[in-house]
Amino acid sequence: MNSPKPWAQALPENSYHREQALLSRRLFQLASVVFAAFAITAVRYGVQGRWDIASLLALGATSMLVCLWLNQRAGTYAASALLWTSATCLVSAIMWRSDGLKDSALLAYPAILVGAAQLLKPQYFFGLLAAILLCVLGLGLGSVYGWRHDLATGTDLERLADTLTILVISGLMIWFLAMDMRNALRGLKSQIAQFHESEKNLTYLAQHDALTRLPNRALGSELMDQAIAYCSRHKTRMALLFVDLDNFKDINDSLGHSAGDDFLKQVASRLRAAIRKSDILCRQGGDEFLIGLTDVPDNQAISWTSNNILAQIKESFTLRETEILASCSIGIAVFPKDGADFEELLRHADLAMYQAKEAGRNTFRFFDEDINASIRENLHLVTSMRAAMAQHEFVLHYQPVINLATGALVGAEALIRWQNPKLGLVSPALFIPVAEKSGLIVDIGQWVIEEACRQMRLWRDAGAPPLTIAVNLSPVQFRRGNVEGIIEHALRTSGLEPQCLELEVTESTLVQDTEKFILALQRIKALGIRISIDDFGTGYSNLSYLQRFAVDTLKIDQSFVKRLLNGEQDLAIVTAIVQMAKSMRLTTNAEGVEDDATRQQLVALGCDQAQGYFFAKPLSAEKFGEYMREKLAAEKHAATTASR
Ligand code: C2E
Ligand code: MG
Ligand code: MG
Repeated sequence: MNSPKPWAQALPENSYHREQALLSRRLFQLASVVFAAFAITAVRYGVQGRWDIASLLALGATSMLVCLWLNQRAGTYAASALLWTSATCLVSAIMWRSDGLKDSALLAYPAILVGAAQLLKPQYFFGLLAAILLCVLGLGLGSVYGWRHDLATGTDLERLADTLTILVISGLMIWFLAMDMRNALRGLKSQIAQFHESEKNLTYLAQHDALTRLPNRALGSELMDQAIAYCSRHKTRMALLFVDLDNFKDINDSLGHSAGDDFLKQVASRLRAAIRKSDILCRQGGDEFLIGLTDVPDNQAISWTSNNILAQIKESFTLRETEILASCSIGIAVFPKDGADFEELLRHADLAMYQAKEAGRNTFRFFDEDINASIRENLHLVTSMRAAMAQHEFVLHYQPVINLATGALVGAEALIRWQNPKLGLVSPALFIPVAEKSGLIVDIGQWVIEEACRQMRLWRDAGAPPLTIAVNLSPVQFRRGNVEGIIEHALRTSGLEPQCLELEVTESTLVQDTEKFILALQRIKALGIRISIDDFGTGYSNLSYLQRFAVDTLKIDQSFVKRLLNGEQDLAIVTAIVQMAKSMRLTTNAEGVEDDATRQQLVALGCDQAQGYFFAKPLSAEKFGEYMREKLAAEKHAATTASR
């Protein structure tokens, strides 16, 4: 086997083999023709009795046979080296034996050099050239100094035959080589064309999204930059639309990713159809698209296009033979008012898109400075809350929970407050949503659990009966934090009995049915901790989670309790909740009881517990301690009076 030559290393494997096959074929053709020429000429000289020349030619013919054999077996290169070497030797020997430099065989040297240059490595070629030069020098000097004599000049006819033979062989060889060169050039041209084509394809792939074929984020930003520069030069306006699909995750989850891909493709073509040809459309990533509307006269024109986009996306899609309804939210930033460059416009369009989402989705919103201000405010709030954590500005207040049938104190709900040096006591309604959005609720929530457990343990140590302490948990704590770990740690360090701890979660927490959430809740329940549903009745109609998560208590939302005496509907709802809870052996707690009439009504309905301003407002730890002592003393007194 021939190993690839160094000059061929760069060639792909198959093109190297193709080249070898061609060389081998050429060598075969050449060696065969030379063999035939040597053999015929040898016979001719033999017939004339010129045995010296005839035998040299016969030797040459034999070496061509060896060359053919080598070409077949050992390899093209060895055969080629033999061909040119033996041809040089033979030509030189014949010239020495006949007319010297006047012999027509001299014509063979150039042909040998052309062939050798094509088929041999440079060092062999130059070796051969040196050998030919030496031969010519020897022949010339041989004639000058009489080392050799022209032995036979031959007839003109013979010289003609020799010349014709050499010219035919040389001509054929040069023709073949020229053909090969032309073919190689043609091949090279087509390879260059292919290279350019694939280079073009690569550039396309690097700049376009493979799924939708739209410009990707990189090309998109380049196109937007160009459009902004154009608008800036011509003093015109441009709008950047940030389009986000509202329910892409649901489609992906319910129909699978390939249907999701299909959906994105259809969305891309609908978006393209909703805008002008001159507008820019690109995929920002995931289910986000960017649209650049150039040369827009006013906001009305932008609103018109945005409405058109909303309408296009609202038309039903067919995916896997299923009709799907979708919608999108659009945030709009306008150049030059909302930003001087693409980055700024994008940031503002993104913020406006979130406003559109918050406004109920399937709508569009223009960026305005107020959004920015509210975001800045939030950021400021988050920074302040971080500092508040470090400076221990958060405190817990405790609202008593009363047994409606006996009027006894059964526990307390821990409610956080922010003791701000400037603002005073800040309500959780103001800072909890921001803490949830920023993720800070995980740290705050951990502190609440630890503090509530610690405080209840102190009261227990001071002689309080096993009251329940309820702590509110945010869904974010389940998603981002290690709730069960934090609870275990809080119980361990405080030494509070798990039965004394109750966790308040909202219905929205329970419907996030993830593996992580289910495992966390199972471990919490296994510790013996109680679970209650806060603000019950305001959330979801599917109540299967009540059994699935072994819930203990339903806390009936204040809105129903407050209107209990005013409307039949609220009375019906509270009655239904209490009855359902009884049949499922769940405890009910009515929140926000502000007067005795409501309390009496709840007692009549069979509600188990209540809390509200009627009994007590949320109290500081110290005040709650006093309240508890008084309440327990009163209960004890009532019990002893009753027993007498
Ligand atoms: P919630 O858990 O439903 O708490 C009950 C809210 O109703 C408390 O408001 C309480 O002060 C108020 N309330 C109690 N009785 C009455 C009444 O008779 N009338 C009226 N009008 N209101 C009453 P607060 O303390 O402002 O807490 C608001 C919400 O903030 C809580 O609602 C809870 O969702 C959240 N929250 C409070 N503390 C925490 C906490 O530590 N972690 C988390 N994640 N959320 C908390
Ligand atoms: Mg609560
Ligand atoms: Mg509540």
